[in-house]
Amino acid sequence: MASLAETHYPVAEIEDADVVIINTCSVREKAEHKLFSLLGTLKAAKENNPNLVVGVGGCVAQQEGQAILRKSPVVDFVYGTHNISLVPSLVSRALHSPHPQVAVDYREEWEDLPDEFVPLVRPGEERTLPLRALIAIQRGCNKNCAFCVVPTTRGPEVSRSAEEILREIRIKVSSGSREIMLLGQTVNSYGKDLSPRVRFEDLIKRVSDIPGVERIRFTSPHPQDVRKEFVDLFDSVPQLCPHIHLPLQSGSNRILKLMNRNYSRERYLEIIGLLQERRPDIAISTDIIVGFPGETDIDFQDTLQMVEDVKFHMSYAFMYSPRPNTVSKATMREEQVPSDISSARLQILQGVQDRLCKEQNEAWLDKEVEVLLEDQGRHSSGALRGRTRHNVLAEISGEGMKIGDTVRARVSFAGPYGIRGELVENSG
Ligand code: SF4
Repeated sequence: MASLAETHYPVAEIEDADVVIINTCSVREKAEHKLFSLLGTLKAAKENNPNLVVGVGGCVAQQEGQAILRKSPVVDFVYGTHNISLVPSLVSRALHSPHPQVAVDYREEWEDLPDEFVPLVRPGEERTLPLRALIAIQRGCNKNCAFCVVPTTRGPEVSRSAEEILREIRIKVSSGSREIMLLGQTVNSYGKDLSPRVRFEDLIKRVSDIPGVERIRFTSPHPQDVRKEFVDLFDSVPQLCPHIHLPLQSGSNRILKLMNRNYSRERYLEIIGLLQERRPDIAISTDIIVGFPGETDIDFQDTLQMVEDVKFHMSYAFMYSPRPNTVSKATMREEQVPSDISSARLQILQGVQDRLCKEQNEAWLDKEVEVLLEDQGRHSSGALRGRTRHNVLAEISGEGMKIGDTVRARVSFAGPYGIRGELVENSG
């Protein structure tokens, strides 16, 4: 029998799968509900295919552990946030031997998959591997924001060795990846715990030296850890895309303090100014929470003003959701903002952001953009879509293009969620 590593391919439908792994997030409560609803769907799939293996990982798994196994008999195993490297052996165990359900949580494991578990590419499907390689460079977080469950579920910040990161990137690039996205809770604090220390800025430069790396992105940096060397990256590393996702969370100094974010609105604006000095065209996106306990109308107006001042290209805005084991849930019960008020604020904020998105996208009209084509288009047949270097979703029409090509296109349409354009040049 072929080994698991020799036979695993991604499939599009659950009915065709032998193994389903659900990665969960507990940052918002809705994600937990989604997990149990998905497990309900998998019950039918498992009845049709009793050999189907189902595993659950991520933060909800870390938090709920055995409770998931008790609530859902379709689950074969649950693994902690630090135990992704155990997934192949857990799958093998479930496939090859009758066993009781199992939950594992060993904190000392690194959370990455071994190289041999990277999905295989079937002949003729060379582009099934993502053109954008997502590379974890650290896990956990030392910041302790009052609303956030991450320090509890994922533990303190641990950086992965630079050599391991660079080795994984070389493997991904040799398998077809062109864009590298470095991931961490606070990427720009990377390396403080390594001995000898490795600076995030040096890591980026070493990534840029790898042949075949066309684009570099990272998410998310924390404003508290922004240094001059970090800002300088944007005019010294050609592959670093002119886009930054810099979480703001609130535009009110009072709320930022209650959130324990360790920066002020003034410092945030100063960082934006420094980035724009290096790259005047830099696109900036952010995360915002509305309705944090104690948020008044004046605080919310401060946030709206910041959104207008910075002119975010995109913001991911959410209503505050009290999470277990967080300071805001434990100590700020009295100051909860009623959900109808939070919801109204969210709608106002999203309205402002939609207008800004449209305005920023309209600024691209009649200009040329570079797009790495990643997927089929949605609006016209034969069109392909991808992202510009500024991270704008772009759908391109033209002859002779294929997924994986980098093209130049002239923009002819702009909406709040992206742009469309016509092919000018295909550099393959
Ligand atoms: S920086 Fe704050 S919000 Fe981000 S993961 Fe750490 S504790 Fe959570």
